[in-house]
Amino acid sequence: MSDAVYAPPVQRLITELGKLPGIGNRTAQRLAFHILRASNDDAGALAEAIREVKERIGLCEVCFNLADAPRCRICQDQRRDAGLICVVEEPGDVIPIERTHEYRGRYHVLGGALSPIDGIDPDDLKIAELYARVETAGEAPIREVVLATNPTTTGEATALHIAEGLRGRAPDVTVTRLASGLPVGADLEYADEVTLGKALAGRRTL
Ligand SMILES: [Zn+2]
Repeated sequence: MSDAVYAPPVQRLITELGKLPGIGNRTAQRLAFHILRASNDDAGALAEAIREVKERIGLCEVCFNLADAPRCRICQDQRRDAGLICVVEEPGDVIPIERTHEYRGRYHVLGGALSPIDGIDPDDLKIAELYARVETAGEAPIREVVLATNPTTTGEATALHIAEGLRGRAPDVTVTRLASGLPVGADLEYADEVTLGKALAGRRTL
């Protein structure tokens, strides 16, 4: 069956839905027909939610987590330990760590992992910003940086790169890595909270 059977607006919706991760052409078609059947209110609410998230959500000026204000909720929370920074690849990685209830420090979101093959160099990530945070932490000096990048090749390379950079700049700061036990090659966001909680509690010094 050719795509040309659909009216252009329907085809456009299928094309846009098909750009979402994990959505193949068949699923995109199914979702498009679901939206076509939905009430105007429901379909409008979906469109409005997408528009609002793009308009209102930006990155925290301190940790680069998602935020609807200059600073994210975690950076604004005075009860969180400011001497402890957990470094993750993506904003989505903060959620599984929060779910473990093992961690009461702050975060630093890199925006990805080092991958020379894909042309992702240290300058493409928020690494210099992390060093600056550690070096200029005035009234609340950083005691420990937990490297919680994914247990993948690129995640490990990123952790080693940052550990080395921190050793040179802030030798007094303890640098730790999540304990093994996480499924190798998998992303943090797929780890269950018990495993991730144990990996956090058992983190080792690099
Ligand atoms: Zn923040």
